[in-house]
Amino acid sequence: MKKIIIATLNPNKIREYRQILTPLGYEAISPIEVNIPLNFVEDGQTFTDNALIKARALAKLIDAAILADDSGLEINALDGFPGLHSHRFLLGASDDEKNLEIINMMKSQQDKTAQFVCVIALILPFQAPQIFKGIAPGYILDLPQGKNGFGYDPIFFSFEANAPFATLSTEEKNRYSHRGKATAQLVAYLKKNNY
Ligand code: IMP
Repeated sequence: MKKIIIATLNPNKIREYRQILTPLGYEAISPIEVNIPLNFVEDGQTFTDNALIKARALAKLIDAAILADDSGLEINALDGFPGLHSHRFLLGASDDEKNLEIINMMKSQQDKTAQFVCVIALILPFQAPQIFKGIAPGYILDLPQGKNGFGYDPIFFSFEANAPFATLSTEEKNRYSHRGKATAQLVAYLKKNNY
């Protein structure tokens, strides 16, 4: 199996990447498994900036294929909030607390539309970084639904899946999710470049 290090400490992201990459012959490895510390400051202005910051930080420490993603939820009525700040929004609060707060913020809004965005930066050894982007359109629910997934999944209804993300299996979510879509482009690139 060809190895790809996933530059994240989020076990949910690793699970979603493994579900796609393992059957295709790629071993998705977390930095913890290879004893590499993840030290970076995500101070970019865009998802792409931050994905590159993470991928480059790891590429300095190990000579291997590196995949880093930056992702988030953009709510149209809130000018794209929480967007880049999706992880830092109410930092320290539980996912349930964050989701209830978003629902609260959306109570007075007519337009509930939103999208999840994922940008992946891939660095293969001795190559320039490649960027892949996936978008999942949907809307914010009035009440959380489902127990699967992570983060904002329980309050996001996917237009394409016609279901809340948190009611889907990992396999189903990957078919419609921002991360699944970006990863499909990444896999096509890997195959084309015989990696
Ligand atoms: P980061 O990409 O590690 O900076 O974190 C992005 C944040 O966006 C996560 O901590 C989640 O709160 C949220 N997020 C990103 N992707 C998803 C997803 O697939 N489902 C639910 N929340 C997500």
